[in-house]
Amino acid sequence: MAFKMAPPDFNNKDQSLPNEGTIIREELEEGVVAEAHKDGTIKIDKDVDPNSKKAKHAIDHELAHLEQFRNGDLDYNEHYVFWKGKKYPRKNMDEGAHHLPWEKDAENKTKHA
Ligand SMILES: [Zn+2]
Repeated sequence: MAFKMAPPDFNNKDQSLPNEGTIIREELEEGVVAEAHKDGTIKIDKDVDPNSKKAKHAIDHELAHLEQFRNGDLDYNEHYVFWKGKKYPRKNMDEGAHHLPWEKDAENKTKHA
């Protein structure tokens, strides 16, 4: 008898991602302050002071992306970003661009303190 992990229930918005809340500081691509990953981690560029307003705002924004992963609206693989069932090639995509629908949605979800 083996144990099986329950599959993620994407209708349950309270369910956490495996590493949700884990913040990792590392060197990110030029111009990138923070990144959300669908395992629940948020990476912050090592040159950004984690206690700064800039970092706080970036984390709030990335938390909105985690919510999108969790509710199934947003997904990605090496080549595509998937948003509400549509796929967007990542090649030549400016991934943080504000006009992208998941960025607009994340902005709307971000609490501006
Ligand atoms: Zn974003």
